[in-house]
Amino acid sequence: MDFAFVTGGSRGIGRACALHLADMGLNILINYRSNDEAAKDTQKMVEEKGVSCELLKFDVGKKDEINAALDSWMAQEDKNIEVLVNNAGIRKDQLLMWMKDEEWHDVLDISLNGFFYITRPVVNEMIKRKSGRIVNVVSLSGIKGMGGQTNYSAAKAAIIGATKALAQEVGRRGITVNAVAPGFIKTDMTEDIDPKQFRSLIPAGRFGTAEEVANVVGFLSSPGCSYVTGEVISVNGGLYT
Ligand code: NAP
Repeated sequence: MDFAFVTGGSRGIGRACALHLADMGLNILINYRSNDEAAKDTQKMVEEKGVSCELLKFDVGKKDEINAALDSWMAQEDKNIEVLVNNAGIRKDQLLMWMKDEEWHDVLDISLNGFFYITRPVVNEMIKRKSGRIVNVVSLSGIKGMGGQTNYSAAKAAIIGATKALAQEVGRRGITVNAVAPGFIKTDMTEDIDPKQFRSLIPAGRFGTAEEVANVVGFLSSPGCSYVTGEVISVNGGLYT
């Protein structure tokens, strides 16, 4: 059985990706950290599309939790991860001069180290099968840098570099590795941002939706996307990058 594994798949952009990939006929494996109710709601929505949906609760910022969860899931011989969407991420905005150690490390642990500890075992299996799609959800902040987000910009920029490097490592094995860089998207993560403050800067004149990001993730996850790799596609309503 082919699964799409979406980290942080219980809410926001991750949930939209899970639903979109389910529409493409893939079974869905959803990782989340704490909100059981949101995860179960998403699981129900995915199952209503006629595919199976499993939940894998662990903190992507904790190597031991990742290894324990993934080792046992991946030991099942009848299931494999054909699509990996590295989506889980958090913001802890602060000016660098006032940034606390934990604000730096939490963002880097979840976004960057999580990417490494999850992608390594998954890509190993993909290499054996000579097939797979990896899509990393990065950010406009990782392309142009954003004041107040040195931790977040650093993590996302690092994943962009890793996307391009890994694409070169696995290109001959039938595996593509790409990134999607959203701008301002309406989710819980941007609840504290007043759209009025930024709307005039966005050529589309509005924040994007999680579904608009999922559409691009869906394309990059599809079999037809076999000759696109190492790319970063912005989904930002035309915001200058
Ligand atoms: P969101 O609405 O806050 O949802 C975050 C998701 O990630 C939830 O499912 C959450 O699970 C999960 N999560 C958070 N920390 C986790 C951890 N340590 N371990 C496992 N799961 C964890 O966020 P979003 O706006 O959809 O953002 C998704 C991705 O898009 C992030 O990588 C973000 O950086 C990126 N992005 C977002 C925007 C935007 O404007 N929204 C723009 C650019 C990039 P729980 O509910 O269980 O905590």
